Amino acid sequence: MTARIFEHARILTFDPDRPTAEAIAIDGNTITAVGTADYVRASAPAAQRIDLQGACLIPGFNDTHAHMEREGLKSLRPSLTGATSIADILAIVRAAAATTPPGEWIATMPAGTPPFFFDGVSALAEKRLPNRYELDAAAPDHPVYIQGVFGNWGKPPGHTALNSRALALNGIGPDTRPRIDGVEIERDAEGVPTGIIIEHNNRPTVEFDILPVVPRFGFDHRLEGIRRSQRLYNAKGTTSIYEGHGSAAETISVYRRLWELNELTVRAGLVVSPSWSDLTEARRIMRDWLASARGSGLGDRWLRVSGIHIAYGGDPVVACCARAHLPDTGWSGFVEQAVSPSDFREVCFLAAEFDLRLHTIVGDQLHDIVPVLQAVNERHPITARRWVIEHIGRARPEDICALKQLGIHVTTISTYYLWKGGQKYLAEPDGGDNVVPHRSLVDAGIPLAIATDNIPYDPFFTLWTTCAREERTTGQVIGPNQRLDAHTALELFTAAGAALTFDEGWKGRLKPGYVADLTVLSEDPTTLPPARLKNIDCLLTLTDGRIVHDAR
Ligand SMILES: [Zn+2]
Repeated sequence: MTARIFEHARILTFDPDRPTAEAIAIDGNTITAVGTADYVRASAPAAQRIDLQGACLIPGFNDTHAHMEREGLKSLRPSLTGATSIADILAIVRAAAATTPPGEWIATMPAGTPPFFFDGVSALAEKRLPNRYELDAAAPDHPVYIQGVFGNWGKPPGHTALNSRALALNGIGPDTRPRIDGVEIERDAEGVPTGIIIEHNNRPTVEFDILPVVPRFGFDHRLEGIRRSQRLYNAKGTTSIYEGHGSAAETISVYRRLWELNELTVRAGLVVSPSWSDLTEARRIMRDWLASARGSGLGDRWLRVSGIHIAYGGDPVVACCARAHLPDTGWSGFVEQAVSPSDFREVCFLAAEFDLRLHTIVGDQLHDIVPVLQAVNERHPITARRWVIEHIGRARPEDICALKQLGIHVTTISTYYLWKGGQKYLAEPDGGDNVVPHRSLVDAGIPLAIATDNIPYDPFFTLWTTCAREERTTGQVIGPNQRLDAHTALELFTAAGAALTFDEGWKGRLKPGYVADLTVLSEDPTTLPPARLKNIDCLLTLTDGRIVHDAR
């Protein structure tokens, strides 16, 4: 690769020594100069010059709770997008039947409008999915499965439909009773299943519970899924991800294969999602099998596995059914867990004993979890180990103070807690300043990074929800004092995440010697009102000095 200079740009470096610049030179995969146009040209006289025509250049986004394994899978199955009636859906099913060998499955994406599917079946004139008999008529020779929405994208309930062949293959009859709460089999007056199943859980459990033979995402689907995901994430300026929710063994193995094939264009930091069923097994697995995930883990600049994710709470029946289906994890990519408060405490001590960095999703339960971390820290100091607290909802000032003292790293999901799920915080006594308190976390000096959670995977949408903090249905601002300016939010979305993979010495900022992971935006986010942040286009993305997206 020849040396290149990107010039006529507004460059935000997130290098405290030189926050802005006009030009940047790179040689191979490394940034060699940042500064004024004259200075950078003089530093590399033979370099190829690329005129960015006033666009804004920043470090590539580091999406620190990315669920990148999901995005590409969405395009592997026929979409129902645009269907506004049962007839529309049946036409899609009929078309699939015409090109699918008889007897093979037809499995589609859910009804409704992506990426959120908030409308679900209400996108259809009849306000319901086709029943088994209607699907039978459209595809008499195929089992048909219209899957329900993954509730984390939008909101439950999710509506699933199967035809008679699909019901029979899964053994669903008048006597079938789901084991999992929140799974509802619709029946006619005689008690015969209509083919419609309604799921009220955020993460669908119906496949784990009563659909043992519907099509699954296997290794090859997931491999192709992440290939597609990488292109999509690169096209939004994302050059690194961190999977703080944990990755199942199969998900890790798919990344490992892409790494081996030299096909990664997004740097991936992964966290183990364990499949143990009790504390005895947990101790043995941590001791015998997770040595490679201890401390800063094992890996290189493209792929690193470090630490474990432990849930706080969860339904034991769901966890048991989900474990029985491994290696399949559905859309999740991680293993469902059910961890009681007392087991959580024990696992935290075990994690500290074996130097496995703990990651946990706290929601509104930070106040319950902080004392556990403090107790662990007294026996096994964790302050330098970069344990990670994720998905903070409500946080009290004293708990923020404790996190700082414990050296905890924090990642947040503005879109989930403030925009999509903000309704529960509309009447907070303090106006919501304790909810996803970004400003308080930054002011306390806590290492903080923001993330998309794949809802959607677009970082510009998350920038907007972070800066605006508007609830989805009312537009009400939750915690106005916690709004961040775009420059701070960008830093949390680019430079900050590098610390989660111990990479802050070479990536995330635009300074000489750092790696050339960068993206070019249509507009400078720091000059826009919050509402316009979500409309920024990504023009160009480089990972490791290589162009991985070019829309110029
Ligand atoms: Zn997650």
